Amino acid sequence: MDRILLRFSEENVEEPITSQVILELGIPLRIVTATVNSLGGDILLEVPAVHVEKVVQAFRKKGVVVKFPKLIKVDSDKCFDCGACYALCPVDAIVYDEDYSVVFDEKTCIGSPCGLCVDACPARAITLVEQDRNNRK
Ligand code: SF4
Ligand code: SF4
Repeated sequence: MDRILLRFSEENVEEPITSQVILELGIPLRIVTATVNSLGGDILLEVPAVHVEKVVQAFRKKGVVVKFPKLIKVDSDKCFDCGACYALCPVDAIVYDEDYSVVFDEKTCIGSPCGLCVDACPARAITLVEQDRNNRK
């Protein structure tokens, strides 16, 4: 699965564009997060990797700006389980394991729209990296 970030403007935010793309293409899309109001906003979508180009083109044709968000990469050699990142995560993608080590759930993490844990880490163990779009499933 690939993740794409849709950026809606004040002009197109009231239109049912996401539903139209799903119906037109017949491709299931998972909404990971949505922050939208009458002035516009962002929707983070998970898209089957084999269909991502088609989906991106369909949204762009309808005037939506599409970006590929960066995802987190954690260097477990640097992480010392301090927990400074834990409380900041808005989607509970950072949890404590039974042995009190910090574990990241990369499927839940929203990536570069957020990045709060990156700045909070005293060990600089977390970075945001481009999605590996050559290694698709
Ligand atoms: S980037 Fe944001 S969503 Fe992802 S793990 Fe860090 S705090 Fe959580
Ligand atoms: S803030 Fe950094 S060092 Fe601390 S638990 Fe999170 S990733 Fe590990």
